[in-house]
Amino acid sequence: MTVTLSDVVSWRLTPDILDLPPSQQFLRRAIARLNELGGEDNWRASRVLWPLVTPVPIVTTVLGDSRAATDFAADGDFMCPYCTSPIFRSRGQKACENPACDANPGYTPETLTRVRAKREAEEKERAEWRRNHTLAMERIQRENDARRAWEQEQVAEARKRGACLRCLFQPGYQCVKFIKHRGLCPKER
Ligand SMILES: [Zn+2]
Ligand SMILES: [Zn+2]
Repeated sequence: MTVTLSDVVSWRLTPDILDLPPSQQFLRRAIARLNELGGEDNWRASRVLWPLVTPVPIVTTVLGDSRAATDFAADGDFMCPYCTSPIFRSRGQKACENPACDANPGYTPETLTRVRAKREAEEKERAEWRRNHTLAMERIQRENDARRAWEQEQVAEARKRGACLRCLFQPGYQCVKFIKHRGLCPKER
């Protein structure tokens, strides 16, 4: 990652820091100053600068897979890349303490394997449920559309024949009667 002068300017650094030579010292001081200044922008900027002067924290599970932290601050604190819980390295915390996190060092390889298999099965089940639900909704939609189209056809036909619209739809599935009353429709009386 490269940090340009305009980046630093846009982070509202004060001129005395901009005058420093672009060395590690400059970056360390810039980070310290940004943290001092506080505020969301400065905090973000310090997190961008921090990887330039320190190794990125890597979190490894008991099964040996690992992830690099993407959120970390100048004091060494970082967000667990598995669960986003904070790991306060500045207070001596070495590992993620979230008991539900894959990176929790309390897991045995067997337990973590089981936990991951269970999670995967649950995710598959949820995906399956969502798929079935979507299919069912689509089917209902299609049926409604078809019913509406059919009803419109019947109404058009009844109008063409001069049949009573009140008496058109009869009880039962797709039952219609095209009735021409001599006088008033009995349903109108
Ligand atoms: Zn974690
Ligand atoms: Zn009628």
